[in-house]
Amino acid sequence: MLVWEMVERRESLPFPAESHEEDSFDRAGRHVRKIMAKATAAIRKCKTRPPREDLRPDEVLCSHCPAKCCRYFALPIDTPDCWKDFEYIRWYLLHERASVFIEDDCWYLLVHNVCKHLRDDNLCEKYETRPRICRSYTTKNCEYEDEWVYEHYWEVPGQVEEYAQAVLGPRKGGTFRSPKPK
Ligand code: SF4
Ligand code: SF4
Repeated sequence: MLVWEMVERRESLPFPAESHEEDSFDRAGRHVRKIMAKATAAIRKCKTRPPREDLRPDEVLCSHCPAKCCRYFALPIDTPDCWKDFEYIRWYLLHERASVFIEDDCWYLLVHNVCKHLRDDNLCEKYETRPRICRSYTTKNCEYEDEWVYEHYWEVPGQVEEYAQAVLGPRKGGTFRSPKPK
């Protein structure tokens, strides 16, 4: 399933009632939907992109791409194996534009945010002084035609709580929710 389809499906996901987190879920969902709508538009535009194998020798792959690799960053995180670990993930997902995914059995924190140096024409304004990670990245295995489909993808804390329950079983002490202050 494509990421933006999952974003659309989020509308029907169950969320705890009367939770303070509900607002955060909605806000996070709104932001992610907005970002993914842009990504969807970019991908639709990309459908007119030539396949990389059809490029002429004098053509640059990046000139046909909406700079997909400059619009997010993803960092590997430890595989959670207890409720405490899942609490960290829940915290990540309370932040706008953050999501978590699994690919090839590795967990990643994904932050959907455009690099400050990406110009409107999708070129790098700091090309000569761009970071090492950008210099070492090549088109060879890049996400030019990637549709960002992951083994698992979460964007709101409630989804991760459900996953943790499925994997670990019921949490001792019930839900994440603190008792109401007296
Ligand atoms: S390296 Fe790949 S993903 Fe990045 S801009 Fe070039 S073609 Fe697009
Ligand atoms: S520094 Fe340049 S190449 Fe690196 S992510 Fe930003 S815009 Fe892209």
